[in-house]
Amino acid sequence: MIRVTILGNNSALPAYDRHPTAQIIELREQLLLMDCGEGTQIQLQRYNIRRRRINYIFISHLHGDHYFGLIGLLTSMGLLGRTAPLCIYGPPALKDIIDLHLAVAGTTLPYVLHFEGLEEGVVRDLVDTPHFKVSCFPVIHRIPCHGFVFTLKGSGRKLLPEKCKELEIPAAYYNQLKQGEDYLRRDGRLIKNEEVTTEGNPDKRYAYAADTLYTESILPFIRNADALYHESTYLDDNRERAFDRFHSTAAQAAELAGKAAVKRLLLGHFSSKYQDLSPFYTEASAIFPDVEITTEGTTYEI
Ligand SMILES: [Zn+2]
Repeated sequence: MIRVTILGNNSALPAYDRHPTAQIIELREQLLLMDCGEGTQIQLQRYNIRRRRINYIFISHLHGDHYFGLIGLLTSMGLLGRTAPLCIYGPPALKDIIDLHLAVAGTTLPYVLHFEGLEEGVVRDLVDTPHFKVSCFPVIHRIPCHGFVFTLKGSGRKLLPEKCKELEIPAAYYNQLKQGEDYLRRDGRLIKNEEVTTEGNPDKRYAYAADTLYTESILPFIRNADALYHESTYLDDNRERAFDRFHSTAAQAAELAGKAAVKRLLLGHFSSKYQDLSPFYTEASAIFPDVEITTEGTTYEI
């Protein structure tokens, strides 16, 4: 199961106790931080999430509401005596920003910071472990910006051990069976995979797209995702304003979720213009029923 905890679901200005963008994505034991707006550390404390458990940070783009909390977090991790390496993925200029802050403060971090710059428009896998994978894809925003897909890898097919023994399949071949292969015995009998295995846990995919204009160019990356977090800065009566500012409306996010055939849509990145968010639900659910208006401190299980 992928667990997504929302730390900030507002756009540029903090308002109504809603904070700029940040969320924690839990994949097995790993905590990954997606964007790091101002106040992220305070939110981590509020929701009892330990900073030292975060080993990966992804920054979508360099508008301040997505990274102004980063320098504080990196510094605190140092003050708390972190020694484990930390991996950050974000726009190349972010490296210069971090280095300048540390240099003028005369700060040397006690841990290794691996930084990987994401060039504009790049599509690639960033992290690939036996348990999970993270990849990025371009979205369309006023400055270069990426969306991300977090995949929790499934278990492969499940063995039926009694059947395997009965049919005299050597244990050395079990891994291949889990991958779905058949087994050819020495006596020439072909054991079909379905005879000795059952369906395992499938992969789970969580896609994140903030900030972005409505664009169908991202469909290949988010198609059939188990959940999509898509920005909905405005309601649809502000479609023109959304377009001018390279943002989307709730209706557009819902339309895209339907075209991508995702299972669930999570909405966020609300403009501080809106105190009441219920119209976002009304608008989006008329187009795509499995929609949720994210709330800070809530963990969504995917
Ligand atoms: Zn932005």
